[in-house]
Amino acid sequence: MALIVKKFGGSSVGSIEKIQNVAKRILNEKKPDDQIVMVVSAMGDTTDDLIALAKGIDSDPYRYDREMDMLLATGEQVSIALLTMAFRALGQKAISLTGPLAGMKTNSVHTKGKIVDIQPQRVLDELKEGNIVVVAGFQGADALGDPVTLGRGGSDTSAVALAGALKADSCEIFTDVDGVYSADPRIEPDARRMKEITYDEMLEMARLGAGVMQPRSVEMGKHFNIPIHVRSTFTNKPGTMIRGEYTMEEKDFVIRGVAHDAKVTKLAVLGVPNTPGIAHSIFSALAEAHVDVDMIVQSIRNIEKNITDMVFTIASDDLPRAREILDRVANELNAVAVLVEEDVAKVSIVGAGMLGSPGIAARMFGALGSAGVNIDVISTSEISISCLIKSADMQKAINAIHAEFFPKK
Ligand code: ASP
Ligand code: MG
Repeated sequence: MALIVKKFGGSSVGSIEKIQNVAKRILNEKKPDDQIVMVVSAMGDTTDDLIALAKGIDSDPYRYDREMDMLLATGEQVSIALLTMAFRALGQKAISLTGPLAGMKTNSVHTKGKIVDIQPQRVLDELKEGNIVVVAGFQGADALGDPVTLGRGGSDTSAVALAGALKADSCEIFTDVDGVYSADPRIEPDARRMKEITYDEMLEMARLGAGVMQPRSVEMGKHFNIPIHVRSTFTNKPGTMIRGEYTMEEKDFVIRGVAHDAKVTKLAVLGVPNTPGIAHSIFSALAEAHVDVDMIVQSIRNIEKNITDMVFTIASDDLPRAREILDRVANELNAVAVLVEEDVAKVSIVGAGMLGSPGIAARMFGALGSAGVNIDVISTSEISISCLIKSADMQKAINAIHAEFFPKK
């Protein structure tokens, strides 16, 4: 008997017909003894549509963060009810559970919540009754019982966390692509599907913009050591396994992939005093508002006046809030100006194999140079190198870097 958690994303349940197809496929694949927990996202673009409705009231609706959660949590409730009905119409016992009913306990950081505990007794009880249990992804409840969502793409995290809490045999993430690729196949025609990737490399790819999986979900997989199988909803191709170690002989690439993030914004606070505590006052103010800061560069601007520039990037979605905070802090610090550059993108290479191979960075910069792409900011981690470039150069940059590290056979 196997307990399997299967997660279906929004595009996989985007219409009634698709929902019915998912139900049929699950019943076809299911062995008589299998216990199945489904985790589903909201149908199609529902979450975007709900956000658009809220923006009709306020251009920054996230300031009403609890109400955003009340609103966004409805999307997944629609799809769990419909998918459960589809199972029942096919004669299969099934029951839908919201995140809170499935025991998803979160902290109280609305719209960016984190799962703090899972008490899945109800899920286990319903499985014992012979039900397929259909759980709403992306949502849980805090200590007060208030709805909290887990950030965009959060259903992946719900699925992997639930698989961990249930000690499931596997966690399958069904999506509209058939695995993890060496670059986004829509941008890079020669992108290759990877049979396997480690948690650490996938985490870095996801953190740097690869949209396949929410980064938190990969962290969860690593934490619980649950193999995550990324597969296509629409085909039977083998997909990609995310796990702790490589098990197959795969051709050795130092670089596992090229990731990109078009939704970044560069900010600069110009002319702040070059004295202790200044970086702290800027970044702690941003942190308090839950704005994540990414690439950070501090440069010497003027030695005589002892002032400096603080340059960094954030997720574009956070810009309205960051702007407000920076205008205030810049004023307090007597900064010369706050600059905003929105037409930037980040391209990165990821691979555990680059540890201790100094030539890799040079090859990446060389590929960009030959393609005529100017690098604005560079940052590195142990297993990645990222360059901030102009948005208009993004496609060219990805193609050039990919050709350098994944030459055509
Ligand atoms: N529906 C949510 C979103 O669109 C969660 C998810 O799809 O994973 O971000
Ligand atoms: Mg997703």
